Amino acid sequence: MFKNEKPFELIVLGPPVSGKGTQTELVAKTFSIPHISTGVILHAIKSDTSHPMSAEVRDYMDNGKLVPTELVNKLVAERIKGEDCKFGYAMDGFPRTLEQAQFLDSAADIDYVFLIKVTDEIIIERMSGRRVCKNGHTWHLKYSPPKNPTICDTCGEPLFQRDDDKPETVQSRLDIYHRETDSIVEYYRSKGMLKEIDGEQHIEEVYYQIVRQMVDDLRSKVGWK
Ligand code: AMP
Repeated sequence: MFKNEKPFELIVLGPPVSGKGTQTELVAKTFSIPHISTGVILHAIKSDTSHPMSAEVRDYMDNGKLVPTELVNKLVAERIKGEDCKFGYAMDGFPRTLEQAQFLDSAADIDYVFLIKVTDEIIIERMSGRRVCKNGHTWHLKYSPPKNPTICDTCGEPLFQRDDDKPETVQSRLDIYHRETDSIVEYYRSKGMLKEIDGEQHIEEVYYQIVRQMVDDLRSKVGWK
């Protein structure tokens, strides 16, 4: 019988703008579990100037650097203890380093690890066209263009390029991604946990493949082959 009381502890790995945030959100909605994103948590701290860590977090993020692991581990450990995480959660942006992956092993019992694969060339093209407004609505000048390239269609606020999407930080973010995250991809691959998904397909197809794998796994766990 099915004994896992927290069956939906999943993480989604992938380079910046691989679509991992979108996919994690869709999977979270599908299984009625919270979507946890360390990028969103850290953006909130950065924007809250009354927060004691705001200036320090801003400095790391605006320079395309990783925020110190000790702080991020603490934030994640607190978040996954939340009552809304009792059946699990879908998390992206964490772990980003081997140290964070090892920490997560001690704090959680991860059921699924998805890797969304996108080549560096596509990443650079996707990042350079991304525009956001202060309310977090996201557009792309080529793939999902707003009517006016400087105004958000949803709320009418001005659109801007995130500091960490600017050309000078894009390459640095990719370098950091490969330097830090390639090792955790190997870590999960060697444990036989990694499920690789082609992230250059349509959003719907990427979503379908993730959910399909989860449903197949759940069916086999309850004995419905
Ligand atoms: P994201 O929205 O996931 O691309 O994250 C934006 C920025 O937040 C990153 O460039 C880092 O500066 C910081 N960040 C997010 N997640 C982590 C993490 N797990 N460890 C360290 N820094 C992080």
